[in-house]
Amino acid sequence: MSKKLKPHHQTSAVPLSSFESATWRIGQWIAFCVTLIVVAGLFVSPELTLTITWYAVVPLLPASFLINAGMWRGICPLASANMVPNRDRGAVLTGKWLQRASALGLILLMILVPLRRLLLNQDGTALAIVLLGIVVLAFGSGFVIQAKGGFCNSICPVLPVEKLYGQSPLIGFRNPRCIPCTHCTSKGCLDIDPGLSVRNAMGASSNANDWLKTPFGIFAAAFPGFIFGYFSVEDVPLSEAFYPYME
Ligand code: SF4
Repeated sequence: MSKKLKPHHQTSAVPLSSFESATWRIGQWIAFCVTLIVVAGLFVSPELTLTITWYAVVPLLPASFLINAGMWRGICPLASANMVPNRDRGAVLTGKWLQRASALGLILLMILVPLRRLLLNQDGTALAIVLLGIVVLAFGSGFVIQAKGGFCNSICPVLPVEKLYGQSPLIGFRNPRCIPCTHCTSKGCLDIDPGLSVRNAMGASSNANDWLKTPFGIFAAAFPGFIFGYFSVEDVPLSEAFYPYME
């Protein structure tokens, strides 16, 4: 499972071995149970759960994307919710619709990160409601858009970070959710080829100087400053809502 694989082997139609299936299944159940515990904890013991969530659980995600974003995508509870309704049927987002959905994911990320300073770092109930809302969004989109096309590969606010950090995985993994690939995403699926996924996100400009004019190019260039901006402000009350967004 851990040896370096060529991109197309990550979505090979060859079934996983029983060991691989069991390992992924255990990982998916652990991620599901951790999510349930976190959501329950946000209501029951918000202060402790907020600390564990933001300082122990969330930082593991970008770190794991550097190893292979497919590792998280293989067990992410939101991906499970997205794929429960249907895997083989539904619409496929193409062209402008895929671009618009991807832009919406970027906008959600830009809204949610500053919202931590305003609300989500301090209010357990608000964070639980946002998490549950995103689960509903992932689950609902699975009814109309095929496989991961309606959430994980389009509007998920974590996808831009997965693409940025995961474009050159250190370790190869078989994608456990798409055997065989149903081509739910017309182009740029991170699970098929992480490097190509980033180039597709930058459109035809990926090899030219004007890559910065694409939405993903702007995001990639602005991301270090965006993170620096987040850490250079403190948590503020709702009455100072403009502060984290203007910094
Ligand atoms: S295109 Fe869709 S079905 Fe194919 S690997 Fe990507 S997410 Fe899975």
